[in-house]
Amino acid sequence: MKNDNCIFCKIANGEISSATVYEDGNFRVILDMGPASKGHALLIPKEHFKDLCELDDSVAEKVLPVCRKVGEAMKKSLGCAGFNLVQNNGEEAGQTVFHFHVHIIPRYAGGPKIVSWTPGSETPEALEETAGKIRAAL
Ligand code: AMP
Ligand code: ZN
Repeated sequence: MKNDNCIFCKIANGEISSATVYEDGNFRVILDMGPASKGHALLIPKEHFKDLCELDDSVAEKVLPVCRKVGEAMKKSLGCAGFNLVQNNGEEAGQTVFHFHVHIIPRYAGGPKIVSWTPGSETPEALEETAGKIRAAL
């Protein structure tokens, strides 16, 4: 299903042009217009899902193989040393476009840190308590 008010629905289905690097029946992969590094791409499903929680399993299982294909092509063609996959769910997590997408971000030797955090510290007991809460909700 498409959402008429969604820009990524229009891009994924070709109604708005984009720098496309890959397309199949389920996805379009385009270059991000505000790239974190050269070649920063977005994998966008052609169907509208708000985020990972809404994504159909039949589409979800095809996401990683396409990300791998594009990441490997980036390494061959752009000379990046590796790549990050970033996928934001919810405003507090940094999501700004509410149509599921995965960022595929090339990483170059000597390039800036793009995805990082300052490690905190937790006791083993606190880790186990938190793990128990998540397990109970699965
Ligand atoms: P997120 O913060 O995970 O929702 O990421 C949204 C991304 O979409 C940002 O990196 C934007 O630069 C990118 N973006 C938004 N609109 C467009 C567009 N029309 N074409 C290409 N990239 C876009
Ligand atoms: Zn959409």
